[in-house]
Parts: sequence; C-alpha cells; structure tokens
Amino acid sequence: METTQVVIAGAGPTGLMLAAELRLAGIEVVVLDGLPARTGESRAGGIHARTMEVFDQRGLLERLLLHGRPIQAGHFAGLGLDFTDFATRYPCTLAIVQADIERELDQYAAGLGAPVRWGTPVLGFGQDATGVEVEIGGPRGGRIRCAYLIGCEGGRSTVRKLAGIGFGGTDATMTGMLADVELAEPPAEAAIFSRRRGPGDYSVLQFQPGWYRLIVQRHDRVLDRTAEPTFEDFRDSFREIAGTDFGMHSPRWVSQYGDAARQADRYRADRVLLAGDAAHIHYPAGGQGLNMGVQDAVNLGWKLAAVLRGEASDVLLDSYETERHPIAARVLHNTRAQTALARPGAHADALRETFAGLIEIDDVRAQLGLMISALDIRYDLKGDHPLIGRRVPDADLTTTRVHKLLVAGRPVLLSLNGAVAPSVEGWADRLDHVAADCEASYWSVPGVGDISTPATLLIRPDGYVAWAADGPGDDGLSDALSTWLGAAAISAGC
Ligand SMILES: Cc1cc2nc3c(=O)[nH]c(=O)nc-3n(C[C@H](O)[C@H](O)[C@H](O)COP(=O)(O)OP(=O)(O)OC[C@H]3O[C@@H](n4cnc5c(N)ncnc54)[C@H](O)[C@@H]3O)c2cc1C
Repeated sequence: METTQVVIAGAGPTGLMLAAELRLAGIEVVVLDGLPARTGESRAGGIHARTMEVFDQRGLLERLLLHGRPIQAGHFAGLGLDFTDFATRYPCTLAIVQADIERELDQYAAGLGAPVRWGTPVLGFGQDATGVEVEIGGPRGGRIRCAYLIGCEGGRSTVRKLAGIGFGGTDATMTGMLADVELAEPPAEAAIFSRRRGPGDYSVLQFQPGWYRLIVQRHDRVLDRTAEPTFEDFRDSFREIAGTDFGMHSPRWVSQYGDAARQADRYRADRVLLAGDAAHIHYPAGGQGLNMGVQDAVNLGWKLAAVLRGEASDVLLDSYETERHPIAARVLHNTRAQTALARPGAHADALRETFAGLIEIDDVRAQLGLMISALDIRYDLKGDHPLIGRRVPDADLTTTRVHKLLVAGRPVLLSLNGAVAPSVEGWADRLDHVAADCEASYWSVPGVGDISTPATLLIRPDGYVAWAADGPGDDGLSDALSTWLGAAAISAGC
C-alpha cells in the first residue's frame, strides 16, 4: 500500500496552501481532488489585507498582483468601508478571481513537490493509534496510509461527515445568484455599485475591461441547493429586481449561494483535521471565506510539520482549533449581521441608515474594517507585550523588511538595533536568528496603535508574534520556544 505523511482531501485554495506549507517544511504530502481537472470557475472575487500579507510572507504576492487589481471596495453589508489608513503595506482589497489564485497555487505547490492528483475522490477512511488509511475512488483509486488526513474538501466535506464531526448553525434564509458576463449596455455608474430594490438587491462589479460580475440577491426565496441555475434563470431574476439586464451575454460562469452559516463543532478527530470551507461555511458577504481557508492552512501547516518531524508533541495541534475556531465563529456572526442588514423592508432600511451613520465614526469603521480584513486577529498567547499573539508588522529593516524573513516558513528570532540576542540553545537549529537594524522608533499595530519598536521578537512561521521584549532579558522566552517549537534538544556529549 502507498504510504505518505499527510493526505490532503481537496485541492481548493485551502488544500493547496496547506500542501505548500507542509512541503516547505519537508513533509511528504499527497493532494487528492475528486474533480477530473480544474474547472476554471471564477468563484471568489477578492482577497483582503491579511491574506495579501500571508501570500507576501511566502513570496507569492507578486505573482498574484499580476492577475489582480487593488481596489478600495471593502464593505459591510454593502456599506462602504475605507481601508486606506490601515497600518499595512496593502490597505485595500485585491480584486482577483479565485481561478487565478488556484492556478498560481497549483504551480507553487507542484513546484514544491505536491502536484494535485485529479479524479481521485476521498471515499472513506479508518484510523488507529499510528495512522489513517484513506480509501480513494477513481481509476487511480485504492488506499493510502498516512499519519494525518486533512479534510479541505469544501462545505460538503466527506471527511467531516465520516469523522462524525457536527456542523451546527443556521439554515439559508435567502438566495443569491451571480453570473460573470459581458454587457452590451453597461451602466453609466461606477465600476462597482449595489442597489436595493423590491425584495432584494443587485450589484455590478467590473472585474476587467469588458467583463462584469452581476449579482442578484433575493429575500423572497430560499436557496434550493439541488438546483443548478441556468443563465436564463439568472437573467430573469436579475431583470425582475434591477429592471434591466444591461444587455448581458456570453456568460463565463453562473452560480448561486445562500446565507447558511455552519461551523464544525471541532476541527480535529485524533489524526483527522478540517480546514477551510470543510470547517466553516457562511454567506459570502465581505468576501471572507477563501481568506479564512488560506489563513487556516498557514496556521496548521507548520504545527503539523513540527509534530511530524518529532520536535513537538501532538498537543501543539490542539492550538490550531483553539486559535482558528473563534476566528471562523466571528466571521459567521458578522455575516449573519450582514444578512440582517441586507433584508428588504422599512425595518432593515432604518437599521441600515442607522448603521451607515455609525460607520462614519472612525473607530466603528476601523473596528469593522480590521475584522473584515483580519488585520486585528490576536491569538490568546501567553505574555503581556502588546505584539504577542498579533501579526508582526512588516516594518522596513536596513537591508530587508520583516515579512520577507518568513519566506522559508521557519520561526524567526529577530534582534533589532544591536539588542543582545537571548540564548536559544536547544532550539538553534529550528529557527532562523536574524540581527537587523530598524530606523523607525515606533511600529503601528492595527487594533493597538503605535508602540515602541521592540528589541527582540520570536515570530512564528505564520507571522504571529510568540514572544517579544522591549529591552534586555528573556523572561518567558524559553516557555514560548517550548510551546511553539517543542522541547529543547539535549546536546550530545558531556
Ligand atoms: C459567490 C461567492 C463569492 C465569494 N467571494 C469570496 C471572496 O471575494 N473572498 C473570499 O475570501 N471568499 C469568497 N468566497 C468563498 C470562497 O469561494 C470559499 O471560501 C473557498 O473556495 C474555500 O476554499 P476551500 O479550499 O476551503 O474549499 P473549496 O474551494 O470548496 O475546494 C474544495 C475542493 O475539494 C474537492 N473535493 C470535494 N469533495 C472531495 C472529496 N471527497 N475528495 C477529494 N476532493 C474533494 C473539490 O473538488 C474542490 O476542488 C465566495 C464564495 C461564493 C459562493
């Protein structure tokens, strides 16, 4: 029987990013997808600041920028949110279709040694104390034995169901339909706009010169999950709400979605874990799903690698759920709020107007925008320094910048401006130690404000700060090293 260290079910953005993270860390991976080949469906339309930073940390962002367009189009339930003053190198949304992201991630993962095996659906699995036996369908089907199986196969995850993991939440209350089309009579308005009319609303987004994504949302009907809408269904529904079809033609993709919001009640069943849509689904408002899947992958990958290399105990894997479950719960919560604000009628109109006024208040706008862009995430890690648990700012250093230090996916101990590096004996081969100069006397941290430039930092491979100090001293450092890198190695000899 074929053996490998990790089997990933599903080659969407989550599975691909996870495969790449594991390969960077030297782990053997097999990526399986039930589809015969990539469909090229456009799907998601954008990524936010934190995901741009995550791609940048691995040297991937430049390639994605070639396909996308930075836009100021953040919103909450269609009410505009300005991101321009956020303390990040990317205070915007990158308009880029999921198909382009997947194509780049396919190449990136394959280049690292994890090509996708298409036409190989995961049908079942059995696990014991030492591993998982995965049953695969398709012409190249059979069984693979691995140490861990990760379900990244989307909202209808087979792995989640077979692992007996509950997927509780709320059912759909509305239906959204979308089509990527060309327009014979394009609207005169801005490249992106939405209008509320009758029992729903419609939106027009110009993705590229010549083609548009049109969306119609209706609160007078609930998604029929078994139906595949045709272009004619979409055009009729759009015309009914918008009063025009803008001469739409040449559809590239037609689809529908609802506002069902569900989350796996646990992300781990022993040697089986879930990530991305397999662990959480929600209304696509604010464009947060793909972002979350990529960030799940980057949270899980290095932890799983440290366990598989025998450096850390598998308790480290529990921190994946502890850290990521509340993030998805928060997204489900905010998308439910956005559905409520999107409903038709005088009550929702009044609520929207009130909300639109509140968003004018800077602190309110910042709170919502930092949540949608995921720049405000603070994992609950031990330590008092304001950076601990937050993503490290991408500060300029004399010879490079902080996020570039993370390209290899390894932990980094960063000593700034001549700070004496604390001893990391016992862990030295598991991290990169970098001494650098940083001219800035303060760093701006989203959700915190300006803080003095720290002296020393321990940065995890996912870009979150595990430990920091403003001066000499290493209080708490060995605790952080043991927690995130595993117990110290005992040196040989006497
Ligand atoms: C209309 C719409 C707009 C959206 N816009 C945005 C946006 O702007 N920004 C954003 O962040 N998110 C957006 N999203 C959400 C985003 O598309 C998803 O969150 C994202 O695709 C999740 O990625 P994933 O890799 O977890 O799962 P998926 O992309 O669903 O990939 C799962 C893969 O698993 C495969 N698979 C399924 N079953 C099996 C099996 N048994 N064995 C092997 N393989 C299997 C599938 O073929 C698929 O390739 C949008 C969603 C919709 C519907």
